[in-house]
Amino acid sequence: RPLDRNAKVYVAGHRGLVGSAIWRKLEAEGFTNIIGRTSAELDLKDRGAVFEFFSQEKPRYVVLAAAKVGGILANNTYPVDFLSENLQIQLNTMDAALEHEVERLLFLGSSCIYPKLAPQPLKEEYLLTGHLEPTNDAYAIAKIAGILQVQAVRRQHGKAWISAMPTNLYGPGDNFSPAGSHVLPALIRRYDEAVRDGVNTVVNWGTGSPLREFLHVDDMAAACLFLLENYDGPEQVNVGVGTDVTIREVAEIVAAAVGYTGTIEWDASKPDGTPRKLMDVNKLTEAGWKAQIGLRDGIAGTVAWFREHRDSFR
Ligand code: GDP
Repeated sequence: RPLDRNAKVYVAGHRGLVGSAIWRKLEAEGFTNIIGRTSAELDLKDRGAVFEFFSQEKPRYVVLAAAKVGGILANNTYPVDFLSENLQIQLNTMDAALEHEVERLLFLGSSCIYPKLAPQPLKEEYLLTGHLEPTNDAYAIAKIAGILQVQAVRRQHGKAWISAMPTNLYGPGDNFSPAGSHVLPALIRRYDEAVRDGVNTVVNWGTGSPLREFLHVDDMAAACLFLLENYDGPEQVNVGVGTDVTIREVAEIVAAAVGYTGTIEWDASKPDGTPRKLMDVNKLTEAGWKAQIGLRDGIAGTVAWFREHRDSFR
């Protein structure tokens, strides 16, 4: 069912990587009444404020893209922050959305919800069949609780709410902070700095052998709208490209994109994380959606965006 272009859509987390891409996509698709609040304007951990916001705005649709996110180091160092803040954000937003009868809601999770040793590629049905990767188990448990909340609301109240699980995302608007970011923005920043400083050796984390799948955030935004209009079921839907690359290969693509020609070293004292995290995207493909942006093009575009904006990251 198509969404009403004139209905009010609340994008929670509209300043983040995913939320800002969804906002752009909704605008491009003709939505006329999109609303968002910065975390300074509305703290989603503040239950009273969230209920007040929903009672005033009464959005008809909600995309829940607000979350505390971070790379392997941040997740490993601050697990209780990732658990507690994400549980609060989700619980408050979905409870208020239910009370105010939000018709369609999309909850966003992550590929790290699947068991560390599940067969690859990861199918939706592997959820809750084994132990999680310890470097991001706290974040994963919060996201799994969110999926359950969507399913429970569907069962108990018959709402057409759904969940999507993106693989590793990247693109314009990403977090480029060295300690908090995911691998792709970290590499872009490190290599760009090396080129500008004339440095000939960079040191990346881990062994370089883990495999990861990367999806451009504009593809993710397109998939989100596609799912809101074409999917209505209790099971979360994986969103990815269906192929993965080693971290070493990603490092080489980034080096080529920024023009870095020096050597690349690996610091194996830093964690590798899960060895492989490839999504099975058949469910989404069969529903009729496929990613469009290739990794080389996507990285080149992200490098250009970073170079335009890098002064704001100092
Ligand atoms: P993960 O997918 O949850 O493991 O999160 P990340 O994107 O943070 O890390 C992916 C892989 O990239 C891990 O094997 C990291 O060790 C590796 N990696 C290499 N260099 C870096 C870096 O500078 N920052 C981050 N975050 N990861 C890096």
